[in-house]
This record gives sequence, C-alpha cells and structure tokens, in this order.
Amino acid sequence: MKIARLVFNPIQENTYIIWDSTLKAAIIDAGNMTERENEVIEKFIADNGLTPEVIINTHGHFDHLLGVAHLCERYEAPFAMSKKDEFLLANASASAELFGVRGGAMPEKIDIDLDGRESISFGETELKIIATPGHTPGHIALYEPQSKVLFTGDTLFRESIGRTDLPGGDYSWIMRSIIDNLLPLGDDVKIYPGHGDDSNIGHESMYNPFVVEVLNQEVNYKN
Ligand SMILES: [Zn+2]
Repeated sequence: MKIARLVFNPIQENTYIIWDSTLKAAIIDAGNMTERENEVIEKFIADNGLTPEVIINTHGHFDHLLGVAHLCERYEAPFAMSKKDEFLLANASASAELFGVRGGAMPEKIDIDLDGRESISFGETELKIIATPGHTPGHIALYEPQSKVLFTGDTLFRESIGRTDLPGGDYSWIMRSIIDNLLPLGDDVKIYPGHGDDSNIGHESMYNPFVVEVLNQEVNYKN
C-alpha cells in the first residue's frame, strides 16, 4: 500500500491518500479547503492515475471534513464515518468559524456507517476499523495489517494525544482506546496521525508523556 500525506487548511491537518497496485484509492480525513488546495489534491490524484473509491473520516471535526463534500462530488465516492460522530456534522461550519476558518460546504450525511463495522475496503486492500472513542465519541483508527500501518486521526499523535475538552471528549476513554486498542498492535506498527509527524507504537510507548504516565501508573485513567 502506498501513502501520501498532504497538509491542508489553517489547522495544518494531515490528509492521506492511500492506494494499492490496482490504483484504486481511499482518501482519509480530507482537509482541503481553498481552490488552491483542491487543485493540489486533484493534481496528485490525476498525476498518479488514481481512482478514489471512498472518502473515509477518522472523526467528525471540521478540520478533517473541509474537503469531504467537494471530493465526494468530484469523484462520485461515498463518505464513510461513524454515525456516533454524525452530531458533529451539523455544527462543523459553525465550529470552523469559531476557529476563524471559512467552513464552506460540509457533508450532510454519512453514506457508510463505520460504527461497529470490522473493515472497509478499496482496490485489493482491507482496512481494519478500530474504535478509539475519547477525542470524539465516534472516533475510529484504520489499520492495514500487511503494511503494519495505522491511521490514528486525533487519538494518538507523535508524543502527544488528542484534546478531550471538546464536546463529546473524554480523557478516560481516549487513554483506554490507546492503551487497550492501539498499543497491543505491536511496537513496529507505523502511526500516521491527523496532525504532525508520523511515528510508531514502540516510540510512543517509550516517549509519549501521556502514555508513559499511564503505563507507569502515575495516573489512574479508569475514573
Ligand atoms: Zn479532531
């Protein structure tokens, strides 16, 4: 599986384009906002001869949604996200404006509900869906076991974790998601987060201060 990262919008959000030998592709967390950013992603897709089959979101925050409606229409592709984050769609434009970002058109509905689903496929590739509530109630991570690649959205960053002070956020849940659902995938699994640089599970187990304080039992996260 091939992976390209494009960084979009004033929140510096990571948009991932992933594809396999069939040249069928999935786009994860499309954050393209301006005409210029639309051109950048469309040119990348055209230059590489890719066909986007599905637009997938790890969660429903506006900085990850800004390009979804545009790309779904442009490529006639369905939008996949957990319905547990559907409540965020209605407010996405308003939240964007609170952050000083022009919201524009947001997706109005979810075509493929990822809540409780085991996997989602494009081309010959199957992405496992791992529920990782905490940053939002419907947050999911996507795992491709052959390449040992994990898209963590805003759950786990390089040496940090996602905010839990936004509506629907919960510290105890995000730590359970990381400790119980992500770390067991193995130290050599590569992490591609929603913001910032990539990492791997081994590095985060050793150097992520939020993870380390829980593993060292300095913080009781099960309250
Ligand atoms: Zn977020």
